[in-house]
Amino acid sequence: MGRKIDPRQDIRAVLEFLDALGFRRLPINMPKIDNSLDTIRNTLGDCKRCKLHKGRKNIVFGEGNPKAELMFIGEGPGAEEDIQGRPFVGDAGRLLTSLIEKMGFKREEVYIGNIVKCRPPGNRDPEEDEVSACIQFIRSQIEAISPKVIVSLGRVSSQTLLETKTPISKLRGTFYKYCGIPLMPTFHPAYLLRNPKDKRLVWEDALKVLELLGRKPKQDA
Ligand code: URA
Repeated sequence: MGRKIDPRQDIRAVLEFLDALGFRRLPINMPKIDNSLDTIRNTLGDCKRCKLHKGRKNIVFGEGNPKAELMFIGEGPGAEEDIQGRPFVGDAGRLLTSLIEKMGFKREEVYIGNIVKCRPPGNRDPEEDEVSACIQFIRSQIEAISPKVIVSLGRVSSQTLLETKTPISKLRGTFYKYCGIPLMPTFHPAYLLRNPKDKRLVWEDALKVLELLGRKPKQDA
């Protein structure tokens, strides 16, 4: 049997090679395209690309500093986010905000987004077809913001961005690369609400992120 052709593997090999050589941008002249967050939001429009649109009150696009050096990515809006149209504003969001502040940032200095932009009913995990329909938008948001570090919150976000099935308990605590950008997977704040003893591990992950950014935490957790 011949090798099964997966062009993504070849593209990935080339990108990893260029990354190892120190290239941070592709050494080719691309026509200038407007990929600002506003343009991405306009392209998303009144999205009906997947079935999640049927139950949503609001699209939760993401919010924060369009030039953020640090970007947090969750899985998808919950009930409160759906009502307000803003990411991480419920109980889990309050925990995330306090982590961001302990790290020495104001919430509005970072960018917060999600893999899917509409609330999955009953807070279930987003399904494969929903993720496939929406993933292009968080990819474009990452490209537009070009953060120095990404923190993926929880299993769905981490496994989706890293294209792996490895459990979050194994992924967390180690830097990976997403399109050349260091990505730190860590536990989701909603998990921490149920398992507060693991806040210590998330703080360890946060300290690694700060070290990579050359920053000090505001306070010891
Ligand atoms: N959980 C998420 O993954 N994202 C939100 O925006 C809120 C809760």
